[in-house]
Amino acid sequence: MDGLNKSMYDIGSDSAFAILARSQELEKIGKNVINLGIGQPDFPTPPNVVEAAIKALRNGYHGYTSSNGALELRQAVAEDFFKRNNVSIDPKNILITPGGKSIIFYTMLMFGELGSEIITPDPGFVAYKSMIDYTGAKAISLPHRMQNNFSFDADELLSLVNEKTKLIILNSPANPTGGVVPRKELEKVANGLKKFPNVFILSDEIYSRILFDDQKHHTLLNFPEIKDRVIVLDGWSKTYSMTGWRLGFGIFPKRIFDYAEKLAINCHSCVNSATQFAGIEALKGPQESVNEMVRTFKSRRNFLVDELNKIHNVECIKPGGAFYVFPRITKNEMSSNEISQYLLEKKYIATVPGSSFGINGEGFLRISYANTKENLQKFVKCLTEFIFE
Ligand code: PMP
Repeated sequence: MDGLNKSMYDIGSDSAFAILARSQELEKIGKNVINLGIGQPDFPTPPNVVEAAIKALRNGYHGYTSSNGALELRQAVAEDFFKRNNVSIDPKNILITPGGKSIIFYTMLMFGELGSEIITPDPGFVAYKSMIDYTGAKAISLPHRMQNNFSFDADELLSLVNEKTKLIILNSPANPTGGVVPRKELEKVANGLKKFPNVFILSDEIYSRILFDDQKHHTLLNFPEIKDRVIVLDGWSKTYSMTGWRLGFGIFPKRIFDYAEKLAINCHSCVNSATQFAGIEALKGPQESVNEMVRTFKSRRNFLVDELNKIHNVECIKPGGAFYVFPRITKNEMSSNEISQYLLEKKYIATVPGSSFGINGEGFLRISYANTKENLQKFVKCLTEFIFE
């Protein structure tokens, strides 16, 4: 032990970043790595958005903004949210943060404590469980199964709720599976939670603009039964290819907003001001780049799923959103971690083992198709070779 507080030893990490670091090492020694591991769009930020930030810097916006974010940006978020979801939000309930991840961090600090339980998707985004573990709360897995299109069963979710449950985390469309939760499951959850008025819900809607076919997004704020205890997380990283800008937001119920803001004040003070101007332009400017990105993702998804299903011992469903596929891959007795390691070290293809997203992810790999069709083709070829080796 190094003398740190005990909780530090419980905090997890995100293997996608470790895999990225290893890919970079391999590249330094001359290997050409195809990175299907990291979750970020492979498009530049739209030029009008970049220009808005440059202009803000030139115009002298170099200081702090208010800790909850510039009012103009929060108003733009509220307008956009209304346009997309038909739900009115008071800009006073919006907290602008350096990426959506901060909302996860703050929410876990607000709800997690020893003796409490937090229900979290399994497989699910790694930061949820890492932070739950850090707070001392018990993470309760909510299975998202392939036979259920990687959604969950509302009855199963409700059966996990008890007097210790503080928070339920939902994420649709989902990382790592691309799964989309149907409205009828959400209706059942909203109805069932009437019996548990103290349970809050964190709805991670960061992929809500990346939906395919006839899928529709249903924000949890759409359900009056639970509206006053829903926290929505969203942001610019995925929709506008702005992962490196660090810009996200949370919508908090009025009665707990001040606590979230206090965490923000004590942690990040505010998001850098030029980025906030970029965020306004992203929401208010032309949206063609978003539509184009979604069209491109859809075509890659169709290609990849079709090709993967042609491979012996690979089974892949066509997910409704995000930019991931989550195929089940069987090769001898190899774990998903061993398969992912093999693909990286021997074929120079970075993927993320399903097991890093929870025990229900074992046997699967997360493949981000935020990459060119040519590279996806190479991946399919390498995976086929690997299966038959
Ligand atoms: N939620 C989910 C489900 C994600 O996949 C990510 C990014 N990988 C985030 C939140 C956080 O995104 P950011 O901090 O870049 O806004």
